[in-house]
Amino acid sequence: MGRLPHKGDLLKSIEGLCQENGITLGVFIALGAVKSARLAYYDQESREYRGFAVDEPMEMVSCTGNISLRDGQPIVHAHLALSDGKGRTISGHLMPGTPIFACEIFIQELLGEPLVRRHDEETGVPLWWRG
Ligand code: ZN
Repeated sequence: MGRLPHKGDLLKSIEGLCQENGITLGVFIALGAVKSARLAYYDQESREYRGFAVDEPMEMVSCTGNISLRDGQPIVHAHLALSDGKGRTISGHLMPGTPIFACEIFIQELLGEPLVRRHDEETGVPLWWRG
């Protein structure tokens, strides 16, 4: 449980924390605020992520995700829900380019057989494969 750095990139900071602590399998929840955000939506027809920007300071209502392995490195998959000054929310798949204002995170490391992400032909996204 801890705090992520002011102005750090949200996704990269979580991945860095996992690398520093040798966490290769786990789940996390985080809350706080961001200065702006880069999110994405996976278009199931075109099979690509469509990114969009949120160019204002927002409350981080909830950021949840998991940690697994891809190409031997811990990779974070996170979804982020944000709210503005009127309580309106916007959310999506977290992308790099989301600077932290303040963030508190709780990571639960899981033990056992690692989950490895590999490209999945059926969906076009990297999904979990055992072993
Ligand atoms: Zn996602």
